[in-house]
Amino acid sequence: MSTATLPQDSELLERFSELKPPLTPQAAVIEANRCLNCFDAPCTLACPTHIDVPGFIKRIAAGNLRGSANRILDANILGGSCARACPVEVLCEGACVMHRYNRQPIQIALLQRHAMDNFHAAGYDVPTAPPNTLDLNVVCIGAGPASLACAAELKRRGGRATVVERREMPGGLNTYGVAEYKLRAAESLREIEMIRRMGVEFRFGVSIESSAELVKLEEEFDYIFLGVGLGAMQRLNIPGEDSEGVINALELIAAYKTGQIHQMSGTVVVLGAGNTAIDAANAARRLGAETVYLIYRREERDLPAFDFEYEHCKQEGVQFLWRRQPVAIRPEQHGRLLLDTVQVQQQQDGSLVPMADTQHTIVCDTVVPAIGQSPFTQLIQEKRRIVVKDGLIAADPITGQTGNPRYFAGGDCVNGGREVVDAVADGKRSALAMIKAAEAIYA
Ligand SMILES: Cc1cc2nc3c(=O)[nH]c(=O)nc-3n(C[C@H](O)[C@H](O)[C@H](O)COP(=O)(O)OP(=O)(O)OC[C@H]3O[C@@H](n4cnc5c(N)ncnc54)[C@H](O)[C@@H]3O)c2cc1C
Repeated sequence: MSTATLPQDSELLERFSELKPPLTPQAAVIEANRCLNCFDAPCTLACPTHIDVPGFIKRIAAGNLRGSANRILDANILGGSCARACPVEVLCEGACVMHRYNRQPIQIALLQRHAMDNFHAAGYDVPTAPPNTLDLNVVCIGAGPASLACAAELKRRGGRATVVERREMPGGLNTYGVAEYKLRAAESLREIEMIRRMGVEFRFGVSIESSAELVKLEEEFDYIFLGVGLGAMQRLNIPGEDSEGVINALELIAAYKTGQIHQMSGTVVVLGAGNTAIDAANAARRLGAETVYLIYRREERDLPAFDFEYEHCKQEGVQFLWRRQPVAIRPEQHGRLLLDTVQVQQQQDGSLVPMADTQHTIVCDTVVPAIGQSPFTQLIQEKRRIVVKDGLIAADPITGQTGNPRYFAGGDCVNGGREVVDAVADGKRSALAMIKAAEAIYA
């Protein structure tokens, strides 16, 4: 797997130093021994991939780190990246019974990371069935978490899986999107290297865009899994948005994660207030911007980002401007930008109305739109009897099967953009459903 384009710059790695340092081996054992091993394991229920949390923690307490990692991988092949990227405050750790006793929840994410880091550092492999035990040949379009989980599950059970990806590196947003201080691109690739060793085939630089290409895949493979995620950032539709100095949040994050942007300076204005906007604002600060504003049309209480992400963003020094909306971007002499904004007022029905005489211009160096991703219309337009609703692929919530029984789909292109762990759960469920469907055909 190529890592040629990843940042080697130690200053950059230092700037994006990890938010949460790993546990020492001693601390991991002490923390593991705090776990009450609840029989009903609310933590496991809260995890979309249903990792056996008490099971893997018990193995850490017993010093069996490899066994612990295998327990995690049984449920979630991307257990390493999920340990770093998952919003555990609202998932497993949020469900920990320790809250009931007014005590700190078990540090499940750090324990999971401890087991997975040990596994990857040792270069262990995942136990898989002998090749071709299962007469099933599947192609996964997109190499993000959803497809990786689908392909790995099929390989683990003895089928064949090929992943086609339009970019030069796999991982989707795990590699190109999740903030570097949570999950380094190199760590995402290390995990995918393990999946490659399982026997999953990868084809990079292949973009499936037309009906003809899908027909060709239908001829070659039994089933097609669509794990294409979402598309580019939505446009602002205001004058001047294509000016030099305007870079959308996804491009900014991918550029710094692949070492193409090393620093920013001056004043940066991020437009939007979801988790992506927060990540972009934090990145701008860490890349050196002196002042970073985040402009949101609504009130603080309406903020779509997670509370803990908002708190972290304030600690990074980002300043929030509420009830403002951009109306134009004007390039100024000397390469700076003038961002015209107005105050808006929320009406009873929730709509926003610009208020008279509230225009305010911010002089800045970079504007970063972050107002949500649009769906990948190109591929989805090539419907092949796949139902598309509001730009998202309609798929069975349990199996991921679409209106065309040979097509399954999962992850962001179905749920509209959630978490890595949701995409992993979808991919795995679809793999199991494909195996069941194939067995029914050959029975
Ligand atoms: C900036 C940002 C930060 C995030 N941070 C977190 C976080 O901290 N924690 C968390 O849990 N979640 C986070 N998420 C959400 C998480 O990354 C996604 O939910 C998850 O990656 C979805 O996985 P996926 O496989 O559905 O799609 P993606 O990860 O988007 O992968 C889709 C892949 O398909 C490829 N592709 C698309 N179309 C084609 C085509 N036609 N042919 C070939 N290949 C194609 C794409 O290039 C891409 O590699 C974040 C999202 C963003 C945008």
